[in-house]
Amino acid sequence: MKKIISLLFIGIMLSLSLPVQAELVMYNTKTGKYHSLTCPWAKKCTVNCIKIEKSEAIKKGGQPCKVCGVK
Ligand SMILES: [Zn+2]
Repeated sequence: MKKIISLLFIGIMLSLSLPVQAELVMYNTKTGKYHSLTCPWAKKCTVNCIKIEKSEAIKKGGQPCKVCGVK
């Protein structure tokens, strides 16, 4: 019985270590800054902002916001 439990445990650990989904950020196309989705500035930004992957925002030359500090 103990063996089954430890096998289950290993299975859970393996599934947890799978690659996580790409991080999404709110990218301001006007200022070139990107924010975490929970940043107050991201919430205020409704006109020029698009929700994209962080790597995409960096490719576009985006800079991390100084308030939320997404790196
Ligand atoms: Zn921000």
